[in-house]
Amino acid sequence: MDTSLVESFSLDHTKVIAPFVRLAGRYEGPKGDVISKFDLRFLQPNKGAIPTSAMHTLEHLLAIYFRKEIDNVIDVSPMGCRTGFYFLCFGEAKPVIVMNALEKVLKKVISTKEIPAANAIQCGNYLDHSLSGAIEYAKIALEGLRVLE
Ligand SMILES: [Zn+2]
Repeated sequence: MDTSLVESFSLDHTKVIAPFVRLAGRYEGPKGDVISKFDLRFLQPNKGAIPTSAMHTLEHLLAIYFRKEIDNVIDVSPMGCRTGFYFLCFGEAKPVIVMNALEKVLKKVISTKEIPAANAIQCGNYLDHSLSGAIEYAKIALEGLRVLE
């Protein structure tokens, strides 16, 4: 099957060293708006995966905390491989700016006492959460976090 349409399939996952922040693409819309996509990689690919409960809690926390650190956030979404997240924003944000924001976000995760929107009204699987897991993997991602060119 042709995988060339998808940027992340062209990344050699055996050659990267996590944790890292990597610019994964810039896209220009028909009216000139630029969207930047970043790969926020918490774990070394194919060496482990964040459990779904911790991943889910990180998703909730990153959704809120990133919007407090950076303007023009579009989305922060979990990778299906559970080794990291995608971060999308309007404009041409530099990787180092996103990495600095991610560091602040992860430090906030570590001191979080309550999971936001973890209820049946605001979440699609509110019982599948782990704050202690989110904190554990935030600490792992902070250890040696760098920009991958
Ligand atoms: Zn949820």
